[in-house]
This record gives sequence, structure tokens and C-alpha cells, in this order.
Amino acid sequence: MSCKICPRHCTHPSNFCGENSILRAALAALHFGEEPPLVGHGGSGTIFLSGCNMKCPFCQNWQISRGEIGGELSIEQMARLMIKLQSNRATNINFVTGSHFSPGLIQASLLAKQQGLIVPILWNSSAYEKVQTLESLSEVVNIWLPDLKTLDNTIAKKIYRCSDYADVAKKALDFMINQSTEKYDESGVMLSGTIIRHLILPGHMESTQSILRWFAKHGQGKAKLSLLSQYTPVIIPGETGKIPQSYLSQREYDLVLKWLEEYQIEDGFIQELETGSDWLPDFRENQPFDSSLARIIWRAQDGPVG
Ligand code: SF4
Repeated sequence: MSCKICPRHCTHPSNFCGENSILRAALAALHFGEEPPLVGHGGSGTIFLSGCNMKCPFCQNWQISRGEIGGELSIEQMARLMIKLQSNRATNINFVTGSHFSPGLIQASLLAKQQGLIVPILWNSSAYEKVQTLESLSEVVNIWLPDLKTLDNTIAKKIYRCSDYADVAKKALDFMINQSTEKYDESGVMLSGTIIRHLILPGHMESTQSILRWFAKHGQGKAKLSLLSQYTPVIIPGETGKIPQSYLSQREYDLVLKWLEEYQIEDGFIQELETGSDWLPDFRENQPFDSSLARIIWRAQDGPVG
């Protein structure tokens, strides 16, 4: 049996994402570390789905993306979790890397809306997605939050084992940008639109430069750009992927600032340069994040969603 949800088109049981059609999630939390228009007063209602169709070799959430942590949820339980986040004042529902669960998440979102969900639904993904799947998702998704890894297929193959990433991601972003219109409420909370994230990889500055050039031409005025400078070398047990072993340097960070000026990209976000691994989450702990960064609403270890 083959799966056609994401571009990997895997054949069961060797699914790249490691999951099947039953929804699994590790954690739901009110997250205060996302871009300000996504946080609002209540925090972004993040739901971390187990498994991932990218499995980046430096993933800070590797315990979840490798499927080590997670509990099964029926469609009804997922809808209940979404409502629970809203009841706890979540600004939105933020599905974190749920591409491989798209059909189930669409069903759960429709059910949650029937049950009173009114906050925007946010799709936080790797951008390695089929337009056909995105079209189905657009029935329920209000805000697209793709993380554009690279526009260089050679790098994509080397780091992400994904030789067509750039071609697929460009089509996915094109769909997202043109499908959504940027809207905000009176307090500046985003209601719909697209924010394109990019994690700057140390030693891969040409890759970042080509993304900035691409954004200036295709995204400017239609989407926001969010640059992440938090790259941290992570050791994932049993994996030997080749990843940068350093943090982003001040020189590299300054170069990015210079390019932003050169390409006249003004509308977006850039993280301040901070290095250190203290903040890396350990999802086996009761409180994986600093308490100022997130408030946990549900964890798979706690059992079914109440
Ligand atoms: S796409 Fe995101 S969640 Fe998936 S492996 Fe990469 S960093 Fe981790």
C-alpha cells in the first residue's frame, strides 16, 4: 500500500515519516516563542505531531519527529484538544509538522469548527508538500507557516535526503502565497496570511542568500519573511547525518542583515543572535520548555485528552 499524501510517496511499512493514518501527537502547549502576530495575548496553541516527512539531522524536536514520543488520538480527541487550547485562550491552533497526517487533521479541524472552534488554524510545515494536499488543507487552514530549508537541490539531497526539495517547496510556497491574504485583527494578531521561515545554517550562506533573492522577487508584499538564527548542533542518537558543528557567527549574521538591506526586505522578523544549547527541549521532562516560553496543556504521557 502506498501513501500519496506527501511527495515522498512511500510504500507501507517503510514510511519515511514513520507514521500511519492514525493521528499521534506528543504535546499541546500555549507557545510564546513564535512570531509576535502569532502569539497575541494567549500564546500560539501548538500541537506537536509525532513523526515528520523531513527528519532534519539537526532537529531540535527529534524525540517527536523520530516518533519516539507520542500518543494516538482519534479524530474526536484531536478536535477536543483544539477546543481545549481555545478554552485556554490560545490565539490560534498551530499544527507543528503535520503534513503526513493531513487527511486526519482536516477532519479533526472540520469537527472542531462544528463544535465552536473560531481561532485561526496555522500550518507549521517543512514546505515539502504537494500542492494537491495543500489545496485540501486550504479548506481549514488560515495561516501558512512553511520553513523553507534551501532552494538548492544538491544541499537538499546532502542534508535532507531530498533531491527534489527545492522544486517541490517552490511550488508549495507559490500556492500558499497566492491562496492566502494577509489579515490582522485590531490588536495585530494574524488572522490569515503566510509567514515564510528560514533557519540560517552556519557555513551555508549562499543558500540563505538565494532564499532572500527569491523572497524579494516572489514573496515581498504578499508574505512575511522570518529568519531564524538559533541553529544549534544537535546530536541525535544513532544518526550520523553531516551537519554544521558550529553556531551562526556574528560575521554570518551581519552578512544576512546586509543582504536584507540590499534586497530591500523590510517586512518580517529576524531572531537576535543567541548561541548556546541550554534551551534545547527534552520532551521526556514534565516541562520541556522554559515556563516563560510555553505553558503545557496536554502531554501524551498524561494519557487520553480529557
Ligand atoms: S522539518 Fe522540522 S520537525 Fe521535521 S525534522 Fe526538520 S526541523 Fe524537525
